Amino acid sequence: MDHPLNGHSRNAEAHRAMEDDSPVMGVLEKIQAEVTGMSDGEVADYIPELAHVDPDTFGIAAVSPHGRVYAVGESERLFTMQSISKPFVYALAVEERGLDDVHEHVGAEPSGEPFNAISLDERGRPENPMINAGAIVTTSLVGAGEQGARFEHIRSVLSAFAGRELMVDEQVHRSESETGHRNRALGYLSLSGGVLVGPVEEAVQDYFRQCSLSVTVMDLAVMAVTLAVGGVNPLTGERVVSQRTARHALSIMSSCGMYDRAGEWGLRVGIPAKSGVSGGILASAPGAFGVGVFSPPLDDAGNSVRGVAALERLSDDYDLHMLQTPSEPPSPVHSVSRSGGTLDVRLCGEIDFLAAEQVVSRLAEVIDDSRVRTVTVELEKVSGFSDAARTLFAAELDELAEAGVDTAVSDPRGVRHG
Ligand code: GLN
Repeated sequence: MDHPLNGHSRNAEAHRAMEDDSPVMGVLEKIQAEVTGMSDGEVADYIPELAHVDPDTFGIAAVSPHGRVYAVGESERLFTMQSISKPFVYALAVEERGLDDVHEHVGAEPSGEPFNAISLDERGRPENPMINAGAIVTTSLVGAGEQGARFEHIRSVLSAFAGRELMVDEQVHRSESETGHRNRALGYLSLSGGVLVGPVEEAVQDYFRQCSLSVTVMDLAVMAVTLAVGGVNPLTGERVVSQRTARHALSIMSSCGMYDRAGEWGLRVGIPAKSGVSGGILASAPGAFGVGVFSPPLDDAGNSVRGVAALERLSDDYDLHMLQTPSEPPSPVHSVSRSGGTLDVRLCGEIDFLAAEQVVSRLAEVIDDSRVRTVTVELEKVSGFSDAARTLFAAELDELAEAGVDTAVSDPRGVRHG
């Protein structure tokens, strides 16, 4: 299948101007100050090359849906993505093969087990694509298991998510390749289950390479926000994956991204996220910020101790929990005015089903109001219509026409017809 990036200028460099004087920087500085003193956790050393890192390193970055960049601490320090690569390769596999095909090969259930668990469900599939076993299978699905070109494709798409050319840390790759026999064993287990495509060693090598891609917390924040806003990198303007694929990746991250801490994470942080053993955490608050944190010491579930603490504070203090409900649904009605027999309704924002329900109930009032014979609806300030909203809105216009009310829709930007 043609990837959406084919034929476009790939990997345009993201322009990352920092919002230095913003009070949002103060928020990140406060969080950094609160977690710096925490000294629990151990730096991962089962991949020998990872053990050489300074355990006191800390960096955090956040990117808004409009592409505004905030970062404090060692935000330019490179580290390897490790498991943070998994949701992006999953997104790529889903984009290429479709959701159902991918899940013929790998499950979608939180395993409640560590990242390196020996996992195979009753159908021979690893339990989910966020644990190593499932991630190796997912990598094997990309590019139809084709030899050679697959990793370059993965690197190119992950670079488009970051808006910057990502490179492999060859030393970390070699170190994992020399010692990663458990991952090879997980690959053979999936081969025995009939779900891994192509030779195990090739899948495992490409998996090791994706884990060894070097990133900064800024890169993670850009990658995170690209998923959070539905697949378009707000810094480069490139569509990297479809809106639906981005949603699938966020769903898997929210149920399985934090391994055997997924439930606790959902309760206390509530932001789809993915951690890696190098000490990074990527968090994508749906429709809101992308966040990247880096601090190498890990808890016994393999998640960065200070990273988890920082995201707990960020979520709690700054309303990023995805199940936080607004005190009132945002109103799509910008203004209503009447002159003579004409009612003028101006709408604004994104019109989804919930917004459309508010609009049609307001328009329906006109039918019982004998003073109004004409309704004009202005969509100039509307950013988009969902399909469900479109149907509801059209049905209400028909109702008004049947009741003898004239209607006119002003849609200068054509949002109503997509
Ligand atoms: N490359 C690491 C491994 O396969 C990734 C694990 C992780 O980050 N949790 O063991």
